[in-house]
Amino acid sequence: MVIVGAGPAGLAVASALWHLGVHDVVLLDRADRPCGRFFGRVDVLQQRVLRSPYEHHPGVEGYRDCELLDFARLNWSRLTPIERREIRMAQAGHRSVVPVDVFEAFCHHVAANHHVYERIWRATVREVRPRADAVTVRGDGIDVTASLVILCTGEERQAAPPVWWDGEPSPACVSYWDEPVPDGAEQLVVVGAGLTAAHVISNALTGGRRVHWVLRQADERYQCADVNSAFFRAEGRAHFDGTTWDDRLTLMRRHR
Ligand SMILES: Cc1cc2nc3c(=O)[nH]c(=O)nc-3n(C[C@H](O)[C@H](O)[C@H](O)COP(=O)(O)OP(=O)(O)OC[C@H]3O[C@@H](n4cnc5c(N)ncnc54)[C@H](O)[C@@H]3O)c2cc1C
Repeated sequence: MVIVGAGPAGLAVASALWHLGVHDVVLLDRADRPCGRFFGRVDVLQQRVLRSPYEHHPGVEGYRDCELLDFARLNWSRLTPIERREIRMAQAGHRSVVPVDVFEAFCHHVAANHHVYERIWRATVREVRPRADAVTVRGDGIDVTASLVILCTGEERQAAPPVWWDGEPSPACVSYWDEPVPDGAEQLVVVGAGLTAAHVISNALTGGRRVHWVLRQADERYQCADVNSAFFRAEGRAHFDGTTWDDRLTLMRRHR
C-alpha cells in the first residue's frame, strides 16, 4: 500500500494499518519528516500553542494506545508549572492549551511506535496510474507499484481571485499567510477573520507594524470552526465507538 502525504492524516492511516497488521506500507511526502508541512506552517506563523485542546487528539482512531494528554502526563517532569496547570484543566474537562513542542514530540512518538520512519520516503508525487490489478505512483526519483494508494495530501491555501489585481502572479506587495511578511513593510492590511489572521496581526503588532484589519461582513468575528469539546470527552467518545461512517457524520454535525 502507498500513502501519499505524511501529515496528521497520513500518519494516522499508517498507524491504524500497523495495528491491523498491514505493514507493507510506503509513505511518500515532499516534506522531510512526518507532519512537516503542518509544523512548517505553524512555525511561519510563530504559533507556539495548538489551536485545539488536549482532548481533540485521542491518538490513532480506534486504537487509543496513547492519547496526547497521556503522553504529556508521562513527560510531566519536563513541563513548566503553567503547562502542568493546562493538563489539570484538561483532566477536569475544561478547554486546555497544548504547547506546539509537546504535540511535535507526540507526533514523533506516534511515528516511531508505528514504524513510520522505516517506511517514509521523501518525494513529490506527480503521477498516479491505476491499472486493473495495481496502481503505480511516480514522482521525483520514485516509482512504486502497489495494490492501493491512499491520498492524504491535505489542503492547499486558498488563492485570492486573479480579478483582485491584473492577472497572475500576485504583486510584490501581496503575500499569503504561509509566507514571511516582506522586510520593511511598516503597515499591513490583513484580510480574513480566522485564527491565522489573528496570528498575522499579533506578529505584526509585536514587530511594531501598523495593521488595518479587513473583515468580510460587519458581523464577522475572530472565530474557530471547532467541534464542541464535550464531544471529545469520554462520554462523547462513547457515542462515537462502533458506529458506521454515516452515523459518525450525523453525530459530528450535531456536535459542531
Ligand atoms: C497555521 C495552521 C495552524 C493549525 N493549527 C492547528 C491546531 O493547532 N490544531 C489542529 O488540530 N489543527 C490545526 N490546523 C489544521 C491542521 O493543520 C490540519 O487539520 C491538518 O494538518 C490536516 O492534516 P492532513 O494530513 O490532512 O494535511 P497536511 O498536514 O497538509 O498534510 C498533507 C501532507 O501531504 C504532503 N503532500 C501533499 N501533496 C503531495 C505530493 N504531491 N507529493 C508528496 N507529498 C505531498 C504535504 O507535504 C503534507 O505533509 C492548523 C492549520 C494551519 C494552516
